[in-house]
Amino acid sequence: MTVPSTAPALVWHVALPVPVPRLFDYRPADGGVTAADVGCRVRVPFGPRELVGVVAGIGSPDADAPAAKAGHRLDDAPLFRGELLESLRWLARYTHAPLGEVFATAMPAPLRQGEPLADTHAWGWRLTEAGQTALPRLRGKPRRLADLLADAARDEDALADLLDDWRAAARALAGRGLLERFALPLRAGEPGSVRSAPVLNPEQQSAVDALLAARDGFAPFLLDGVTGSGKTEVYLQAISDCIARGRQALVLVPEIGLTPQTLKRFRERLGVPVHALHSGLGDGERARTWAACLRGEARVVVGTRSAVFLPLPDAGLIVIDEEHDGSFKQLDGIRYHARDFALVRAKALDVPIVLGSATPSLESLRNAQTGRYAHLRLRLRAGVAQPPRVRVCDVRKRPLDAGMSPELFEAIAATLRNGSQALVFKNRRGYAPVLLCHDCGWSAQCSRCDAPMTVHAGGRRLQCHHCGARRPAPDACPDCGGLALQAQGAGTERIEEALAKRFPDVPVLRIDRGSTQRRDALENLLHDFGEAPGILVGTQMLAKGHDLPNLTLVAVVGVDEGLFSADFRAPEKLAQLLIQVAGRAGRAARAGEVLLQTHHPQHPLLETLLNGGYHAFADAELAQREAAAFPPFAHLALMRAEAKQLEVTHAFLQAAKAALRDAGGSLELHGPLPAPMPRRAGYQRAQLLLSATERRTLHAALDAALPAIHALPEARKVRWSLDVDPVDL
Ligand code: ADP
Ligand code: ZN
Ligand code: ZN
Repeated sequence: MTVPSTAPALVWHVALPVPVPRLFDYRPADGGVTAADVGCRVRVPFGPRELVGVVAGIGSPDADAPAAKAGHRLDDAPLFRGELLESLRWLARYTHAPLGEVFATAMPAPLRQGEPLADTHAWGWRLTEAGQTALPRLRGKPRRLADLLADAARDEDALADLLDDWRAAARALAGRGLLERFALPLRAGEPGSVRSAPVLNPEQQSAVDALLAARDGFAPFLLDGVTGSGKTEVYLQAISDCIARGRQALVLVPEIGLTPQTLKRFRERLGVPVHALHSGLGDGERARTWAACLRGEARVVVGTRSAVFLPLPDAGLIVIDEEHDGSFKQLDGIRYHARDFALVRAKALDVPIVLGSATPSLESLRNAQTGRYAHLRLRLRAGVAQPPRVRVCDVRKRPLDAGMSPELFEAIAATLRNGSQALVFKNRRGYAPVLLCHDCGWSAQCSRCDAPMTVHAGGRRLQCHHCGARRPAPDACPDCGGLALQAQGAGTERIEEALAKRFPDVPVLRIDRGSTQRRDALENLLHDFGEAPGILVGTQMLAKGHDLPNLTLVAVVGVDEGLFSADFRAPEKLAQLLIQVAGRAGRAARAGEVLLQTHHPQHPLLETLLNGGYHAFADAELAQREAAAFPPFAHLALMRAEAKQLEVTHAFLQAAKAALRDAGGSLELHGPLPAPMPRRAGYQRAQLLLSATERRTLHAALDAALPAIHALPEARKVRWSLDVDPVDL
């Protein structure tokens, strides 16, 4: 479209990644503005910097504003268009976040930084024959690069990890004919030898039938099936059908669910390349997967939270596995929930979406009960596996060693005698949660947080799990000088130590964030651990992921810590965790056993869960939520603020509260209240809770009040954020 010279020149309304909820006008440095610019990235001056933004609209310049500055368009065709563009606009409205920050969150880093849309090939480098011959004569960086390539070609991502500034050396060597660059297929993994699907049991079959019957439009399903009931088989059949129809399938899994085992299973069963997207990948690979989706080349993607932003021009199905999992909620920046956003996208894309879980979130269960989601149940374990037996072990007055009872040690011994493996689960890493003086009662606290420091390294080091502060453990009590310092309680390190002492003949492997930083490290450790008799000790990280066929005993230590928490979601999280951990036992032919150690064997949560299972628990918990007007019977938003001085934090939240009250409506406002951890890393933290029975009320009040809140003088003195549908209060 050409703009007649008499009309006022149009401008771009650009969404920039700055914490200001508005768009900024720019004009193109060359050429005119057309509707096809919407959704393209532009590079524009912003104060002393240059920023990469996205054209969110075009229009006439504001007559009162100074003339728009010039910017450069970076894309020939829009990166964001159609459904994704509209869904991201929805997300910005829903989270009340600047659209520019939402776009930035939706893009992989290279696109955010203005790099061109990735080539969907990966590139590799190899030595030529001349290069092999010349290698011994090379020196310095070219030599180091040539050494890396001496045995095998490597792709560019790998080289970037191994050698800084490798590219200049590579170009120089290529210029001398010693090195060459070649295109690799995008690493979606080889399809592998196709495995045939098992014959589905009747429950699985009717779930698949229901999904296929609804494949032509938006239809939300809750696939509610006990661990090992064959939910993944149901997804796989629905995905097969989706790809056979020439459509794309997106599968979201929790952070720890995306294992090489999972990908292998998908590749073998689907017989097509399967792209993975997770935080362990390099930026280059993430950008290539994004581009492959946009171009429609990627047909099946299995990814963690941020994969919900992938463009899906040919979408046919979305699957959210372990839909209750906390890792789907982003806790900083744009605080979106990938499951909820996936539902919005499925609706806009007009495709079915399956939320699967053995322990569905109360929100999803409620939606199934009210008929908003079709409820598919799988009540039986598939194949040969039997449900595990659950035993409560009352440890009141029992002698404990590192928190473990004689019964627990006996159960482990029996398991090992049978040639099986045991898992001891404790959701606390480190050696001990507290260092206490037995003479005067002093305990080691973090100087910057309201929290005790965790004892690590067998008692030699103290570490704060909230701000990361570390210091050596004192030899004597800083208050009374006494030498009676004792590590109180037990974390995974101490449990590992006690088990290794008692069972010296078998391997004891600890899996937690301290022992296992990287995803592949976890896989390698579990692989080496193998299937021989042995003991695993671990945190949440072990609750799912890697399948352990020879694991027959799961012992849960420290249930009690979760029974008494102020967070209204704590019972739900505890029940889910217990069921998930228990589901690790007896996945194969041997029956499993679960041992729950507690000082509160009669606690209603445990009783309901043990006698009635997760659904009985969920019904009771939903009734309580309804009585207390908590989600899913109310809609919440949380405004958090922090500053060095508590008065400053409070002044802001009070002013925000006044602005929200002026906005009217039947919104309930609670606070300012102290944050769950009132002081963290030296900041005084408080929060304001907004609650409404209607979602509309909440959003209308926020829409009306937020411009005034952004403009508050108090807002400049604090760090503040808004979290719609918070998961941790
Ligand atoms: P979930 O995802 O519900 O935990 P999976 O789909 O992983 O369950 O199935 C658990 C195990 O049972 C897997 O080893 C799977 O191969 C097997 N399985 C699933 N469905 C069947 C079936 N219909 N017949 C035989 N084995 C099955
Ligand atoms: Zn003391
Ligand atoms: Zn701290």
